Amino acid sequence: MASHIVGYPRMGPKRELKFALESFWHKESSAEDLEKVAAGLRASIWKQMADAGIKHIPSNTFSYYDQVLDTTAMLGAVPPRYGWSGGEIGFDVYFSMARGNASVPAMEMTKWFDTNYHYIVPELGPEVKFSYASHKAVEEFKEAKALGVDTVPVLVGPVSYLLLSKPAKGVKKSFSLLSLIDKILPVYKEVVAELKAAGATWIQFDEPTLVLDLDAHQLEAFTHAYSALESSLAGLHVVIETYFADIPVAAYKTLTSLKGVAGYGFDLVRGTQTLDLIKGGFPSGKYLFAGVVDGRNIWANDLAASLSTLKALEGIVGKDKIVVSTSCSLLHTAVDLVNETKLDKEIKSWLAFAAQKIVEVNALAKALSGHKDEEFFSANGAAQASRKSSPTVTNEAVQKAAAALKSSDHPQATNLSAWLDSLVQIAVEVYESSFPLDIQEFFSAIAAALPSEKSSPRVTDEAVQKAAAPLKISEHRRATNVSARLDAQQKKLNLPSLPTTTIGSFPQTLELRRVRHAYRAKKVSEEEYMKAIKEEINKVVKLQEELDIDVLVHGEPERNDMVEYFAEQLSGFAFTVNGWVQSYGCHCVKPPIIYGDVSRPKPMTVFWSSIAQSFTKRPMKGMLTGPVTILNRSFVRNDQPRSETCYQIALAIKDEVKDLEEAGITVIQIDEAALREGLPLRKSDQAFYLNWAVHSFRITNCGVHDTTQIHTHICYSHFKDIIHSIIDMDADVITIENSRSDIKLLSVFRDGVKYGAGIGPGVYDIHSPRIPSTEEIADRINKMLAVLESNILWVNPECGLKRCKYSEVRPALSNMVAAAKLLRTQL
Ligand code: GLN
Ligand code: ZN
Repeated sequence: MASHIVGYPRMGPKRELKFALESFWHKESSAEDLEKVAAGLRASIWKQMADAGIKHIPSNTFSYYDQVLDTTAMLGAVPPRYGWSGGEIGFDVYFSMARGNASVPAMEMTKWFDTNYHYIVPELGPEVKFSYASHKAVEEFKEAKALGVDTVPVLVGPVSYLLLSKPAKGVKKSFSLLSLIDKILPVYKEVVAELKAAGATWIQFDEPTLVLDLDAHQLEAFTHAYSALESSLAGLHVVIETYFADIPVAAYKTLTSLKGVAGYGFDLVRGTQTLDLIKGGFPSGKYLFAGVVDGRNIWANDLAASLSTLKALEGIVGKDKIVVSTSCSLLHTAVDLVNETKLDKEIKSWLAFAAQKIVEVNALAKALSGHKDEEFFSANGAAQASRKSSPTVTNEAVQKAAAALKSSDHPQATNLSAWLDSLVQIAVEVYESSFPLDIQEFFSAIAAALPSEKSSPRVTDEAVQKAAAPLKISEHRRATNVSARLDAQQKKLNLPSLPTTTIGSFPQTLELRRVRHAYRAKKVSEEEYMKAIKEEINKVVKLQEELDIDVLVHGEPERNDMVEYFAEQLSGFAFTVNGWVQSYGCHCVKPPIIYGDVSRPKPMTVFWSSIAQSFTKRPMKGMLTGPVTILNRSFVRNDQPRSETCYQIALAIKDEVKDLEEAGITVIQIDEAALREGLPLRKSDQAFYLNWAVHSFRITNCGVHDTTQIHTHICYSHFKDIIHSIIDMDADVITIENSRSDIKLLSVFRDGVKYGAGIGPGVYDIHSPRIPSTEEIADRINKMLAVLESNILWVNPECGLKRCKYSEVRPALSNMVAAAKLLRTQL
């Protein structure tokens, strides 16, 4: 029975690649040094997989920066501003595209689907001349072969590559990127030919865009591309990988009809309905790469459960056609559990990082072929059982409190039964309309009918809608509406119009980091540490008073990270030493692990917030991270719905809000920087997520007095599609990142969205070292005033100032305050 790994982390178990890259970029080491580290990492990964017994081992999933950028290099699609003049693309051009250079900024970077990985967005247009300009895929294949490892070279598929691109500057937005398909395929053909010549027998094309909501024209591009490649691919086994979500029915049909393809990979962890699709029909003679081992989380696989899924699938596709695989590339999980020496032993037994997941894949493949490693399976079974019953996971009080939330969401049980009745009615209708059929088909038809609730007139039944309406969450709202609250707050705060504030953090100087580090390592005493932080807060407060900012912050000097700081003080969280996951380039994050019920043993921020308030008469914002952001930036438990975990965090933050209020903090900011990061890929799943996410936010602050002003901050400007959810958060003031796209943001309001709460679109770009002038800021505020009422507009930078320098922050904030003052005289 075969086993397969979609892709593997590149950074190394101790971020070796990161350090090698940084040292190369800082000119402290040579290109050869960097290449040596990279080759060492690749060799150890291939060897590890080969030793584990994996049959289909990937190559070309390594990257010096990003696999999409590698594809851009392969296709020679270098934007002209990088001055590439042909030939094989080397480090200088490659890293200039990735990171910019002294004279040219980097290419744009954006989120890779709904992960925290970011890719470099290709910039394409009708003028781009494609040519085969990076032989990396072939070189890596040969490199592995020389080490005695036969690999499956992995390429970003041609259609996904184009769908993930954007029109280059100067190219019309309406330009069809897919129209370039026939221009890039010749390069793909060259690569394929070389791989064949080098001895490849399999090739993997990653086409993850197939899980998105694609239209018929986009799907048609897949059919076209793979037909065009068919003759070149002859003699190779082709597997098309999809991941991150259920594949829609139409895409499934397109995919399974592609010419010249031997197998298809599916994410069977996130894709729960894909199983039904496969059961409903799978082309005979094709391979199914069954992604049952989760590539996006750190939990050990439930091997017994996976094995029974695999057995069921085997019954459909045939014994020699099933390949056990990971749900997606292991790039999105931590690297190796072996290096976690500080983790609690019991918790550790519940986990599997990339290195362990390889072993799981292989164990499942062996078990499926009748060679079950009983010892391994029973140890896994014992760990699963211990996780289910462990008292460290369950906190009865938290469970009860979270359950109480739900019963208040659904006050009348009769509604639920009415809703169930209407479901039964749908079932009856489906049954009658498609009679006669057997029971199996009947249930498939029901399953197919349910998700299409919105579009099918048969299912959009008024009775259902009505019955379900009362189930919609209406609870946990502040008692008074936002304009009345703003009035009450203004009486207390007495702020000028166009009030000024900042987002929370002030520059984290080297000394500050040092002292925090030393305190953690127990190298400075608690007393010394407290003194240093206190002095820093005092300094930041004095600076803000000097600048004449209206609503102050304490600057967050005690925080290393906005999520970790809270996670460390909440129960139910565990932390790794080396559990790094690549976010972009050499930048990695180390998400906390939520393993149990979350609660707040004691106040987390009240101490520092109170001290900060004692330094000034001006309002001092209490500064919290919201539940959705804590959830989205953590490894989340998989034994209960995400929403459930989010509600638990919300209740913990609610306690903190209450304590801050009682301590006399009248403005409290609850950051939901990462609200959008959790948005599901498929439109049909988004409303549900937004509903519970926004509800969680409201839970944190619905109990405060009218006079307590709740702020929130979100970190992105693409919010047109979720503006109604943002309004539904019902915060008093929202600050948002905006500086790069005023137009987009403002058009939302120009389009007539009613917005009554306070709003502070960032007035300057904190990511750039350039200092904005007073006139420039005033000009931007004026543009905002054209679409937003002056009594709701706030003036602030777009995000926290943590990574900035004081030499930039001082003049920029000074100009910002000057601009606000100037405009106040003109209102
Ligand atoms: N309050 C946080 C800060 O200023 C918010 C950070 C963020 O939006 N990512 O650092
Ligand atoms: Zn931000």
